[in-house]
Amino acid sequence: MRKLVLAAAAAAVLACKATAQAPPPPKLLVVFSIDQFSADLFDEYRPHFTGGLARLASGTVFRNGYQSHANTETCPGHSTILTGDHPARTGIIGNAWVDQSLQRADKDVYCAEDPTVPGSSATHYTVSPKQLLVPVLGEIMKTRWPGSRNVAVSGKDRAAVMMSGHNADQRWYWDGAKFTTDLRAAAVPRALPKVNAAMAAALAQARPPLQAPPYCQAKARQVALPGSGGPVGTGQFARAAGDATALRASPELDGGTLALAAGLVEEMQLGRGLQPDVLAVSLSATDYVGHTYGTEGEEMCLQLLELDREIGDFLALLDSRGIDYAVALTADHGGKDIPERERLDGVPGAARIDPALSSTLMGPKLAARLSVAGPGLLGDSKSGDMYVDDRLSAADQKRVLDAAVAAYRAHPQVEAVFTAAEIAATPLPATPPVQWSLIERARESYHRGRSGDFYVILKKDVTPIADTSRGYVATHGSPWDYDRRVPILFWRPGYRGATVETPAETVDIMPTLAAMIDLPLAPQSVDGHCLEGTPAFCKKP
Ligand SMILES: [Zn+2]
Repeated sequence: MRKLVLAAAAAAVLACKATAQAPPPPKLLVVFSIDQFSADLFDEYRPHFTGGLARLASGTVFRNGYQSHANTETCPGHSTILTGDHPARTGIIGNAWVDQSLQRADKDVYCAEDPTVPGSSATHYTVSPKQLLVPVLGEIMKTRWPGSRNVAVSGKDRAAVMMSGHNADQRWYWDGAKFTTDLRAAAVPRALPKVNAAMAAALAQARPPLQAPPYCQAKARQVALPGSGGPVGTGQFARAAGDATALRASPELDGGTLALAAGLVEEMQLGRGLQPDVLAVSLSATDYVGHTYGTEGEEMCLQLLELDREIGDFLALLDSRGIDYAVALTADHGGKDIPERERLDGVPGAARIDPALSSTLMGPKLAARLSVAGPGLLGDSKSGDMYVDDRLSAADQKRVLDAAVAAYRAHPQVEAVFTAAEIAATPLPATPPVQWSLIERARESYHRGRSGDFYVILKKDVTPIADTSRGYVATHGSPWDYDRRVPILFWRPGYRGATVETPAETVDIMPTLAAMIDLPLAPQSVDGHCLEGTPAFCKKP
C-alpha cells in the first residue's frame, strides 16, 4: 500500500515536470543542517554513503554551496538557512558579540540570548530568538496558513532558535544533560521524557568502541598535538560511564536529536494536516567531533557513516507513515582539520595562531604603549570582530583603533584588517559568492551597532586555537572556502536530480522551499533566490 502511494506521488511529480506545471506541494518540509559538514567532507564521503545521505544525494546536489559571509560560525550560519538572508540582514553576526551599551558588567552578548532579562549573561543566558531581526520560513508559512506547524530540534539551542525563529510550536535542544526548551507555553511532548530517559540511561553506561569499516580503519593514524591535548586520529567513541562531554562529541547526540524529531512527527502528525509544516533538524555531533578530533581521522569517518545510517532510519520512518515530504540539507559552515595532520598531508602553511594576536593580550599591550586606561580592546577574540573600549575619549579610541589596525596588519599570520568604516562603505556584493573579495565577505557579516570597530582575517590555513589543552583542537570561523563551502541538497520522493557545479548560497534554500510549497514572497524581501533544477518550480519575477 505504501509503495503504491509513493509511486502515485512520484508519477504526479514527474508528470508535472514534463508539462512545466508546478508539482503538488509537499505537506512537510524537513530541513537538515549538519553542523560543520563542509563540502570537502561531503565530497570525500559521498561514495561511502549508503543510507540517508546517499538517498538525499540522488536528488539535486549543489556541491558548491556557500555560507558566503566571512564569520563562518554556527549562529550566523543557521540564521541564513531558513530566513533567506545573510547575517548583514539577520543581525546574527557571530555566536556572540560585544554590546558596550548593556547595563551589566558582562558586555558580551550571546546570539540566542535575551539580554534584557535580569541576570542573563553571555554564559548563563536566557534563550530567546529576540536578536534575530528577520522572520524564518515557518513564521511566514503561519501568516498564510495559520494551521501550519513550525518545529525545530537540535543538539544546540542557537541552531534550533535560528531555524524556528519567533513563532515556533515546538523547539527542543540538548543542554548537556537533557533536551530542553525556551517555549514555556508549549505542551511538553510525550516523546520528551522517553528520549531524555534513554539518553540518561545510555550516559550511565560505559560504551564500547564502534566497529570501524575498512575505509575508516584506513584513516586511523595517531597524531600528536602540542601541549596537553590529544593525541587524536584513532578514536572509536569508546566512552566511560557518565562522560557527557564524550557523549556530545559522538553519534549518540544525533541519535537522540533524531529520536526526538521522530517523536514530534508522530505526536504532532506533522505532514498530515491540511496545511504544510516545517521541521528543522540541526545535527550537532559532527561539529563537536570536528572540534575534538579534527576532520580527517577515524573519528570523523565513524561519525559521518553513523550519521548516514541515522538519517536513513529517520527517512524510513517518514516513508512508513506515508507522509508527502521534501528534504533540504546543508551545513551552517564548513571546517578544517588540525594543522599537525595537515602538515603531514602536505599543507605547508598549516599552523596554530600566535597567542599574541588574542585581543586580551593585544589590547592591554597597546593601552600601555599609548598610556590609556583600561584594556584597550574588549571581548576575547583571536580574529574576526574586534571592539575598542568606548569608555575612552573619542581621541583615545581613535589612537587605539589606529594602533591596533597597524599592529594586526604587521603580523605575519594576518591576511587583512578592515575597519568598520571600510566595511560599511563596501556595497553588498551582487556577484556569485565564489568571486567575492575578502571585504565583500566581511560586508555580509557586518551589522551596524553589533559589529566590531575592525575585523581581522588570519592567513589561510592558520587555526585560531593556540592551546589544545581545553578540549577543542580544530575549528572554523574564517572567510576561507574550507569554512564557507557547504553542500546544499534537495530531495523529494520520485524526483531524480543531478549534481550541479554552479555555485549556490544557503540563503537560496528558503526561497526554494517557499516555491516548493507555493508560498509567495514579497519581491526583494529576502537575499536569496529560488534555485532552478530542484524539485521547486521557480516562478519568474
Ligand atoms: Zn556550527
